Amino acid sequence: MDLRYTPEQEAFRKQARAWLEANVPAEPLPSFDVAEGFEAHRAWEKKLHAGGYAMVPWPVEYGGRGADLLEWLIFEEEYYRAGAPGRVNQNGIFLLGPTIMEVGTPEQKARFLPKMASSEEVWAQGWSEPNAGSDMANIQSTALRDGDVYVINGQKTWASRGAYAHWLFGLFRTEPGSDRHRGLSFILTPLDLPGISVRPIQKINGKAAFAEVFFDDVRVPVENLLGDEGAGWNVAMATAGFERGLMLRSPARFQSTAWRLVELYRETLERGAPVAPGMRERVARCWMDAEAYALNTYQTVTRLLAGGRIGAEASLNKIFWSELDIEMHEAALELLGPGAELAREPWLDGYVFALSGPIYAGTNQIQRNIIAERLLGLPRK
Ligand SMILES: Cc1cc2nc3c(=O)[nH]c(=O)nc-3n(C[C@H](O)[C@H](O)[C@H](O)COP(=O)(O)OP(=O)(O)OC[C@H]3O[C@@H](n4cnc5c(N)ncnc54)[C@H](O)[C@@H]3O)c2cc1C
Repeated sequence: MDLRYTPEQEAFRKQARAWLEANVPAEPLPSFDVAEGFEAHRAWEKKLHAGGYAMVPWPVEYGGRGADLLEWLIFEEEYYRAGAPGRVNQNGIFLLGPTIMEVGTPEQKARFLPKMASSEEVWAQGWSEPNAGSDMANIQSTALRDGDVYVINGQKTWASRGAYAHWLFGLFRTEPGSDRHRGLSFILTPLDLPGISVRPIQKINGKAAFAEVFFDDVRVPVENLLGDEGAGWNVAMATAGFERGLMLRSPARFQSTAWRLVELYRETLERGAPVAPGMRERVARCWMDAEAYALNTYQTVTRLLAGGRIGAEASLNKIFWSELDIEMHEAALELLGPGAELAREPWLDGYVFALSGPIYAGTNQIQRNIIAERLLGLPRK
């Protein structure tokens, strides 16, 4: 791994920085968990797409820039530095997109990727069910073949952005009577088909961040199957690898929070406010951990560019970033003292969201099980 940027990468950084400085909205957009904010974020995505920055590492024919993953990391650094809006289509561009790139047919790539890159179509992830969260192999929703369609019945839950999204990628049981990981298939379905009901779930802040999705004899064309029938578990594990191991949470997100924390520490000292013993070391540790995560990600990307793959070590990553995010926000709230209640953005809201990090993308307890079994080779019981 070469830790220096090439002149071309430096030139790309300059170009991206200039574009972002000229185009990032001056005022933060309303939350993408309300209808108005969802559309405002889609308009921003359209602008990014027109500028050629929607998906830096994707081929141009699919709406990308034709650059590589290192340039994507550089772009992410500039994106967070510029304080640009959250990516409303993150389930599509960061999770499903790379999966389609890996296992999709040429027709699926041409059909889905360009509209995903421009956020003309925003995606929700439909894996969890009322009785299939950590135990995802317990999925009960079925998609039974009837000629050239699958007939889907069942219920999904906790689908982020599901209240407003246009499409959902989900895991469904296609083999009647099959058990656990076998007989599941990865199917893409529009959310406006007859028989689908989307019921928004409001978070404690009143925003509809999630939805439950009910399927009642929904007929989806068989060409919407991604990967082989019955091989859905393996396809989903490739998606989860991107989610936990690389794309969903790029290091720049945590580096920018770490810098904000350093700034807050400095301001607190300047105000003469009391600072708990050990806080200086704690802030420095957060900053170093964010840097370590960035270096580790550069190493992962170097490996991927050399033809490697993301494996079970994605679980280590996921635990690291989710725990670091909480620690940085807790340190900030402690520095703010009672004033933390007033500092909704970024610290209090950020803290509440950070608390969900150890739950989404597979809970950290489950990641620890995966590490124990697959990386350390420990027995299952
Ligand atoms: C912010 C957020 C966004 C989400 N977005 C989506 C989405 O877009 N699409 C989607 O499909 N889902 C989504 N989810 C759901 C998420 O994937 C599940 O919440 C998660 O997998 C846990 O499942 P559960 O909630 O059913 O908890 P449970 O599985 O009931 O777990 C409860 C507790 O028991 C522990 N536990 C369970 N089994 C074991 C075990 N074998 N060993 C050790 N501990 C165990 C868990 O770690 C957890 O602490 C989202 C969740 C959150 C918080």
